[in-house]
Amino acid sequence: MSVKSLKCRECGREHDMKFHYICEECFGPLDVSYDIPTLSPDLFTHREQTYWRYHELLPIRDKSNIVSIGAGMTPLIRAERLGEKLGLHNLYIKNDSVNPTFSFKDRPAGVAVSKARELGLTAVGCASTGNLASATAAHAAKAGLDCHIFAPSDIEMAKTVQAMSYGANFVAVEGTYDDANTIAAQIGDRYRIGIVNINMRSYYVEGSKTLAFEVAEQLNWEMPDHLVIPVGSGAMLNAICKGFEELEAASLVDDASRMHPYAAQPHGCAPVVDAFQSGGTVTPVSVPDTIAKSLAIGDPGDGRYVLKRLQQYGGSAAECTDDEILDALTLLAKTEGIFTEPAGGVAVAVLQKMVQEGMISADETTVCYITGNGLKATDTVMSVLPKPHVMRPDVAAIAAVIK
Ligand SMILES: *Cc1c(COP(=O)(O)O)cnc(C)c1O
Ligand SMILES: [Zn+2]
Repeated sequence: MSVKSLKCRECGREHDMKFHYICEECFGPLDVSYDIPTLSPDLFTHREQTYWRYHELLPIRDKSNIVSIGAGMTPLIRAERLGEKLGLHNLYIKNDSVNPTFSFKDRPAGVAVSKARELGLTAVGCASTGNLASATAAHAAKAGLDCHIFAPSDIEMAKTVQAMSYGANFVAVEGTYDDANTIAAQIGDRYRIGIVNINMRSYYVEGSKTLAFEVAEQLNWEMPDHLVIPVGSGAMLNAICKGFEELEAASLVDDASRMHPYAAQPHGCAPVVDAFQSGGTVTPVSVPDTIAKSLAIGDPGDGRYVLKRLQQYGGSAAECTDDEILDALTLLAKTEGIFTEPAGGVAVAVLQKMVQEGMISADETTVCYITGNGLKATDTVMSVLPKPHVMRPDVAAIAAVIK
């Protein structure tokens, strides 16, 4: 067990692993820190096919508190046909749309709910743009904990139906994600609810590190050169970088500094990209307007840390329009057989831009993170598809539409 303390990301002060998430000295966010042991690749050969295979680098002290619905170890697909379209010979898709609740959010939610159990909390919840709702609700169901969801009222119907099916109490807030977030923070404090992405955030972000661990292991412990990552709050991009750094500390990869992270945002909500391009600080977007609802976070909690990561590792950032998102989403589906929601379209569209701008060259190992499933956003995708042929079951008539 290597988990050590909660360490302030700003002033470095160390705190006990308790139910708190902000530094008492400077109000900076607290991160889990570890005494990282040297780990051998052999260790993982016979382990479970979930992200809990990396439990040495996750913040749960007693394994009996782990709440697992089997998430993680999703496929890393060699994307030959998409690569050919983009001019890349070593392109991989990390297909995290096939997790149990159909997004990568099973990673952060599962770790936070497990920690809530370890801390003895009886209820959990989240502020969500859609996917975190189901991930939290499913893990709460598995753990037998109460669950309270706060999400903007305009998210996709499928995401609401899914979360409520797991038994969550669902509050559809008439406002933006940031409004839902403010409410969730207050309710969490008042009723001692473990809000996974707010007062449990130190643990929540740890789950997304496993997106680095799995990619490294699936590449046979070779570092990738380029990582294209969709950004909402920025927690995932920051966590993926932390994950690769910890693998280097554990001697599992050689040189984490080889990675170049790219932040991908939709044009209608791109505060991090705008800050990167202007060289200034992150200015919140008051009313996001994008079909990529999972990324519609106007005031990204980890935005400034994403900027630091891009600087530290020579990364970049770009945004794309709704039309570009739909084109990219259907391109991925038609070339690789992977159906993603608009957030995945944002990642592919920005990947395309990074190639065009000369940031990524043909032979370098590039990983594009596809974080959510298309079945959660069928209404949006339907708008760009032709209508199916509705026909009587008559071979002669149907022959007219077979080319
Ligand atoms: C939440 C979400 C993101 C963004 O993750 P952050 O950690 O908030 O930056 C990306 N893709 C999908 C599908 C999501 O649900
Ligand atoms: Zn501090």
